[in-house]
Amino acid sequence: MSRFNSVVFDVDSTLSGIEGIDWLAALRGADVEAWSAELTARAMKGELPIEAVYGERMHAVKPAMAEIERLGRAYVERIAPRARETLTELRAHGIDLVMVSGGLREAILPLARELGVDEQQVHAVSIFFDEEGNYAGFDERSLLTRQNGKRTTVRDMGLRGPILAVGDGMTDCEIKPVVDSFAAFTGFMRREPVVQRADFVIENFDQLRELILE
Ligand SMILES: [Mg+2]
Repeated sequence: MSRFNSVVFDVDSTLSGIEGIDWLAALRGADVEAWSAELTARAMKGELPIEAVYGERMHAVKPAMAEIERLGRAYVERIAPRARETLTELRAHGIDLVMVSGGLREAILPLARELGVDEQQVHAVSIFFDEEGNYAGFDERSLLTRQNGKRTTVRDMGLRGPILAVGDGMTDCEIKPVVDSFAAFTGFMRREPVVQRADFVIENFDQLRELILE
């Protein structure tokens, strides 16, 4: 028996211990990294709407295809402890697993493969390249570049309830009205405004497993 039939996972600082855009910004030097990390932190605490920082960060970083491939490997290297085993077990119980991220889809797909999450269940922001593999923009129409985009995206998925959403950031909190429960994941980052709004606070994937299965 399980308490939930579907689980919605955030990616950055939840399934993997990095913030993808900040990881990319670090490739542009310490100043750009610090600037990007500050914007990310403020957005995830709810001090800035994500749409205010999304395009600005991407425009400053302009990641190339080869860098997105490196980021994809970094996501896999920094996979959350016990996430692999937990997701395998949840799947064996027939629970539907989806990933919903404001990060870059092409960088996240290797992590999804590693975790056994179907590509169709990965909702994130697409990035575009020219023929030489240089940055050519991102999907600016994606709802996931906006503050309550995760909520709309999850609402329209038609997931089987009860649904649990898990994440570390304010954009994950925004999902709460359209799911049954929201768990703040603090294994990498503890953000008080998120913890305060959460139904559960989870420090690691063993606790998540207990919450869902026991
Ligand atoms: Mg996150």
